[in-house]
Amino acid sequence: MQLTVKTLLNFKEDYPLFISRDVRLTEKKDRRIEVKVDARCGSKGVCPDCGKKCPGYDQLPRREFIHVPIWGVAVVFLYRLRRLQCPSCGVVAEVVPWSTGKSPLTTSYAWYLSEWAKLLSMQEVARQFRSTWHHVFTSVEMAVAWGRERMDFTNITAIGVDEIHWSTKLGFMTLVYQIDNHCKRLLWCGEKRTEKTITDFFDWFGEARSLSLNFVCSDMWKPYLKLIAQRAKNALNILDRFHIAQKLSKAIDEVRAGETQSLVKRGMEVVLKHSRWCFLKNPENLTDKQKVKLKDLLACNLKTIRAYLLKEDFQNFWDYTSATWAGKFLDQWCTQVMRSKLEPMKKVAKTIRAHKQLILNWFEAKNEISLGAVEGQNNKAKVVIRKSYGFRTAKVLEISLYHKLGKLQVPELAHVYF
Ligand SMILES: [Zn+2]
Repeated sequence: MQLTVKTLLNFKEDYPLFISRDVRLTEKKDRRIEVKVDARCGSKGVCPDCGKKCPGYDQLPRREFIHVPIWGVAVVFLYRLRRLQCPSCGVVAEVVPWSTGKSPLTTSYAWYLSEWAKLLSMQEVARQFRSTWHHVFTSVEMAVAWGRERMDFTNITAIGVDEIHWSTKLGFMTLVYQIDNHCKRLLWCGEKRTEKTITDFFDWFGEARSLSLNFVCSDMWKPYLKLIAQRAKNALNILDRFHIAQKLSKAIDEVRAGETQSLVKRGMEVVLKHSRWCFLKNPENLTDKQKVKLKDLLACNLKTIRAYLLKEDFQNFWDYTSATWAGKFLDQWCTQVMRSKLEPMKKVAKTIRAHKQLILNWFEAKNEISLGAVEGQNNKAKVVIRKSYGFRTAKVLEISLYHKLGKLQVPELAHVYF
């Protein structure tokens, strides 16, 4: 068979009621392939409201529908929509199988762009296909709406709540993940980090589903703890390892900053120079140079070093298998810290003591939730933000997060060209 653009089109897009007549490559500067589409002679149009086939009485002006490009050459469908006289709905413009509503893109092309936008940022997709950011965004928005309408809510037993700081002006976004071993994904996101935000989540999630949760992982923020206890009554609230590690890292940073200041006063600041990452990174992630630096630092009896060793010691907590022994370890660790005279560390120890039971709850969830599940999802969310060089509005960020982390379903159509 001789290959023409028409055969290729009929192979990919089969619309029995429509035919593509004239396919041409334009002569103008921006060369493109124009495909003139016509309704089959004598065929009726489909009413968008009731789906009935109705006779047409006139045609609207010609519209362009941008389709998937071939070898970097833009492809457009040209078609004049028919206006129909529907017996039940009145005068309406027909629906066509390659497009939904007012979008200037064909549905296939919208799915094609949105699938690419899972791998690249929206700016990159726009550049790659000589499209616009707006077209890519509306395609992603369509894909997200489609997928969220068809979300599967069965068997959600564990969720994790967390927030990311994404904009200096707009602040936080609260994210709720499913963290079951069989499925980890983003379930919901809401602007800011307030009691209302988390209330909105539980309202959206629904009472029955909230009551069938077994585990909710969160940080120690009071409104979270309160609302989780109220709304997910049957769930065990656990604290993520990562939130405690964050608090410890922050405390070390404060000790180090304080100590650097006092060393500067005494003309000895060189000791702690360039040491920040030695204390914050996990020992196995340090570069050789940083390892040497850390070894030198450990040889001095500095406050920062003592804080660092206390943080390292805390890591042992997660290796316990029995909650009783882990509890004893926690008590000892806190006592040691309270004697350390390191104020920022003492603050963390107090928080840990106050939430001891919540932290120990971890041992009941241990076999069902993996350690750092929330942290893993959160890191993915951060990558989305970093790769896109920031988002202008909360809505754009939300759509992008759902698209990349929501594990949303797609129709068959999404794979026709992808
Ligand atoms: Zn109708």
